[in-house]
Amino acid sequence: MSEGDVGRAGDGTRCVHGGHLPPALGAPMHPGPVLSSTFHLGVPGDPLPTDYYGRADNPTWRALEDAVGALDGGECVVFASGMAAIAAVLRLTARSGALVLPSDGYYLARALAHGELAPLGVEVREVPTTAELTPEVLDGAALVLLETPSNPGLDVADIAAAAAAAREAGALLAVDNTTATPLGQQPLALGADLAVASDTKALSGHGDVVLGHVTARDPDLAARLREARARGGAVPGPMETWLALRGLGTLDLRLARQAENAAALVEALLDHPAVTDVRWPGRPDDPAHAVAVKQMRRWNGVLRFTFPSEAEVGAFLQASRLVGSATSFGGLRSSADRRERWGDAVAPGLVRFSAGCEDPGDLVADVLAALDATR
Ligand SMILES: *Cc1c(COP(=O)(O)O)cnc(C)c1O
Repeated sequence: MSEGDVGRAGDGTRCVHGGHLPPALGAPMHPGPVLSSTFHLGVPGDPLPTDYYGRADNPTWRALEDAVGALDGGECVVFASGMAAIAAVLRLTARSGALVLPSDGYYLARALAHGELAPLGVEVREVPTTAELTPEVLDGAALVLLETPSNPGLDVADIAAAAAAAREAGALLAVDNTTATPLGQQPLALGADLAVASDTKALSGHGDVVLGHVTARDPDLAARLREARARGGAVPGPMETWLALRGLGTLDLRLARQAENAAALVEALLDHPAVTDVRWPGRPDDPAHAVAVKQMRRWNGVLRFTFPSEAEVGAFLQASRLVGSATSFGGLRSSADRRERWGDAVAPGLVRFSAGCEDPGDLVADVLAALDATR
């Protein structure tokens, strides 16, 4: 199968074959990570090769960038973490205007903007994920960052509408696509300029890697991000990059099971007396569903619900055999995270739940039994 054919294939095929070089006689079918910081430079007069020093580029980075860029529909630049990716985007754009960030999104993006960029004179504005981007909000803005579905609220923003508003105002639109993954949503096709993500979550999917990426529609913007990466030094290790590429191979399978588990859990939790406010954009009656279904290609395993207080969260976690108490999400094993502990402006009993790849019957039975223990 040639690269072009893979580009038009289904999600599973694209995940399995993405980033792999065309077959060559005797070449490894499953190449490992290239663990070299230094590369042969030849003699004076030889051209500078693509790989000359491990902070500038690496063949394993390019393999993952090829795979993720093809899924995102643009040019991908991998970073050492989701925050390194977001930081590169904010720093690159902040010089030309204000930053518009989600007030209810991942908290460290706001902390970075307020803690590092505002003191340098950058204006930082916050708007809720579901708010309309009015001309007043966008006046003088260089960048709008959307996070959709938002973390932890799972609200959904209309990407195409935001892209039109941002374009009108002369601002770039970046979408944090972490929760959806490149299979769940394609921000660039919906008009965004940049897709950013923490690949620590579902994309790598095994809880053993911290990694992130930015995919740009404009190759010049990708080149500037690459330069910023080399200068800033927030570079991923080849081993982590390779683990992410290996994880990506099963993203289609894992997402399918995680979404199946989330749907089954939502069904079981909706009228359960132990929790309220069950949210998952994939449920037809969810407040976010109408916008989500317009722009998302498929669902994932991240849902949320609320216990009356912190005490019931503790009882639930203690009683469950399958649900780990952990932050992060998108991994093989189901986990739950009480978000208020991290400073999110949410109820003390709000839990972001990451449905893993367990069997749906086992997971639902375990969660229902653990809910009983809270009452
Ligand atoms: C986890 C997360 C990040 C930060 O990513 P790291 O890989 O932990 O640096 C950014 N955005 C969202 C939505 C996240 O969930």
